[in-house]
Amino acid sequence: MSTNGKKKEGPSELDIFRDFLKRHGMRYTPERETIIKEIFATHEHFDVDSLYISMRQKGLRVSKASIYRLIPLLIQANLIEEVFFEKGQMHYEHTYGHEHHCHLRCQQCSKIEEFSDHRMAQIEEELTKRFNYKILRHRLEVIGLCSDCQKKAQAES
Ligand SMILES: [Zn+2]
Ligand SMILES: [Zn+2]
Repeated sequence: MSTNGKKKEGPSELDIFRDFLKRHGMRYTPERETIIKEIFATHEHFDVDSLYISMRQKGLRVSKASIYRLIPLLIQANLIEEVFFEKGQMHYEHTYGHEHHCHLRCQQCSKIEEFSDHRMAQIEEELTKRFNYKILRHRLEVIGLCSDCQKKAQAES
């Protein structure tokens, strides 16, 4: 999403979410709006702790519990999804208006490379046949050492 994200024309994330809440009989509160605006202000991967800290630094008054309660709703509304789990934190990214991609993550410095590969569609097709599943989505995370970290490791040895 950060590098190969493409923004489609259409309703904003806020519009979609407001509509989602209405359809599910839930309230659209100013606090929820503040959090959503912050989430969609950047296109980076994010986790709840860092989102909370950066909001507090900006003087925005929200509770961490409210963020935690909002995340599953945003997932349900197809606006964000879980991407990877690191240092005890789930990291999320925007899905709305972004092309699907997979992640290559450096275990040492946490650098993320995003990639897409048409072979993933073939794998999904094969799985559909093999297990008789209706595939909804997939999440692929490949973990390794980036070239910088490999160089550092070599220099140290
Ligand atoms: Zn991503
Ligand atoms: Zn690295």
